[in-house]
Amino acid sequence: PASHTPVAELAPEQLEAFAQEQRTAYAALREKGLKLDLTRGKPAPAQLDLAEELLALPHGHVDASGTDVRNYGGLQGLAELRAIFAELLHVEPSQLVAAGNSSLTLMHDCLVDLLLHGGVDSPRPWSQEEKITFVCPVPGYDRHFAMLEHFGIDMVTVPMREDGPDAEAVARLVADDPSVKGMWIVPTYANPAGSVTTQEVAARLASMETAAPDFKIFWDNAYAFHHLTADEAKSADILSLASAAGKPHRPLVFASTSKITYAGAGVAFLAASPENVAWHLGHLGKRSIGPDKVNHLRHAQFFGSAQGVRDHMVRHREVIAPKFAEVERVLSERLDGLGIASWTRPKGGYFVSLDVLDGTASRVVELAKDAGIALTPAGASFPYGKDPGDRNIRLAPTFPVLAEVTAAMEAVATCVLLAAAESLQR
Ligand code: PLP
Repeated sequence: PASHTPVAELAPEQLEAFAQEQRTAYAALREKGLKLDLTRGKPAPAQLDLAEELLALPHGHVDASGTDVRNYGGLQGLAELRAIFAELLHVEPSQLVAAGNSSLTLMHDCLVDLLLHGGVDSPRPWSQEEKITFVCPVPGYDRHFAMLEHFGIDMVTVPMREDGPDAEAVARLVADDPSVKGMWIVPTYANPAGSVTTQEVAARLASMETAAPDFKIFWDNAYAFHHLTADEAKSADILSLASAAGKPHRPLVFASTSKITYAGAGVAFLAASPENVAWHLGHLGKRSIGPDKVNHLRHAQFFGSAQGVRDHMVRHREVIAPKFAEVERVLSERLDGLGIASWTRPKGGYFVSLDVLDGTASRVVELAKDAGIALTPAGASFPYGKDPGDRNIRLAPTFPVLAEVTAAMEAVATCVLLAAAESLQR
């Protein structure tokens, strides 16, 4: 619309004209018969191509210590690859495990081991507790919530803010209730809000008193290096903070190269206190004789150094930053000032979090679907898929090519406008 007057301030006949305009625009959109997908945070083929050289690696089959990587063994992962990522994650190489291709699998393994065996500071296995509860910052990552639901773990939510989870709300939840055993957090460029947890918030989470003696922070740093601007966020150093607070076993840090090299064939990492690393390797040793060291070696050769990883991430940025800029351009041109939507302007990560008029997110997703645009289901960023405000939609612009991002976002804006008009006319 030419005029950017808040829609809620329009007189009834102006609102009807506005609504008619949106119905016409939506009908025209449907006519186009588009088929676009903004659902999952996947790297685009152009990003995967950046690591094409990996397919010709490794050169040779021995690591720096002369070990044949084709054979069994080396449970903690290849030393030279751990050295590279230990530098990037600011941990000691001895505190880092290089594992298989998925950090989500590592999170799942740690949770299962906590349930079956308890942690290094647990009085008993978690499964022997009457009830287990996790604190979930929202909006958050749907697969985190699905994992907890799968194991019958209760979820309580706290708001995710620009500086990280509402730490005072978390502190209140964990203070008196021993059933609260853990929390999720995506500290850097959070999925989906893009926020970065500050050192202050991290310090509060690391040091707060918890009724459970074995409270765990699942610190999922999936987007630690995934900057979209030159203003590169540095992740809070949760392991040092927890150590300094006398709670060294509280954080379990996860990361992976899923969005650095290949989403399906990268390397996942776990960083933790020496005791937690020994705990993990103890259980891991019962299910594996060693990881895929051939993949570790080719990653080590591909990157060469920590700087090699940083340089590689700049090449990703060049591919995807224009897509995020396009999301911002279309949304601000079409929706700014109308009082019916707000959205994030992330400096990294894979998502834009769009809040539409309360009670209209599912309608927006439905309208988009009927026009051929797949959006993440409304509510996906909340436990049990239920957004109490029905307002949040997660946009994932990395996978489509730029022209498709433009078309999809124009379509999203049309659906947001029509859903708002319908809602305000009710
Ligand atoms: N953690 C977060 C926050 C994610 O957004 C994703 C993927 O979208 C993952 C973990 C999955 O990581 P991986 O591929 O290492 O299993």
